[in-house]
Amino acid sequence: MATAAIAVKNLTKYYGEGGGRFAALRGVNVKARLGESLAVVGKSGSGKSTLMHLMALLDQPSAGSVHVLGQDATGLRTADLEQTRNETFGFVFQQFFLVPGATVLENVVLPLTVAGVPRRERRRRAMETLEQLEMADKAGNRATDLSGGQKQRVAIARALVNNPSVIFADEPTGNLDSVTGGVVEDLLFALNRDRAITVVVVTHDEALAARCDRQVYLKDGLVVTRAELAA
Ligand code: ADP
Ligand code: MG
Repeated sequence: MATAAIAVKNLTKYYGEGGGRFAALRGVNVKARLGESLAVVGKSGSGKSTLMHLMALLDQPSAGSVHVLGQDATGLRTADLEQTRNETFGFVFQQFFLVPGATVLENVVLPLTVAGVPRRERRRRAMETLEQLEMADKAGNRATDLSGGQKQRVAIARALVNNPSVIFADEPTGNLDSVTGGVVEDLLFALNRDRAITVVVVTHDEALAARCDRQVYLKDGLVVTRAELAA
């Protein structure tokens, strides 16, 4: 059996403690295969972002396991988790999460700084990535002084600059108009197709989900069928 990019088993996630605790995920099994685009679909509150955070090692499960490229990441120490995350994943969020006072170039350079890439190499790779996303002319602009679509391009450049195996996109078009959102979708699917980057898209948008190779449906913290989701 081929190694999955990400495989989660019997994943449970509680928020809060004691009698007031809330089960956001209740025994979820999901695989993202290498090179595929996978949509995690469900209504608001169904647990999509929670699942993505656990798949991406941004949070710890209450129970269950997460395997990244065949390796069990469940017991990793914080420093190793951070390294795996930085080397293997790129992130694109609905809210962009760019560093507001910093320039476009500084934002894209950030993951390379974390990875300890030498300064000149950082700048070269960040500019190259910005060129690929047709944002090189905005390198010196403040991230705040951009349109929504431009911000998401910068976020994609930042996600891409480390040559990730997997890009996680949480409602990547949620803050964009439909035309701009379509362009951002095209960019993500081009990366999937042309560079075989595994793309995990979290969305409540059925049209975006339908563009993915495969869909996983979540309802109240459980994986369900498409019919059950609609019911
Ligand atoms: P989705 O992304 O599908 O909208 P989330 O994963 O964000 O869903 O949330 C799933 C459920 O867990 C929701 O009921 C939400 O209110 C709850 N939840 C999410 N994050 C927290 C948190 N940090 N503390 C408490 N409850 C949370
Ligand atoms: Mg969410």
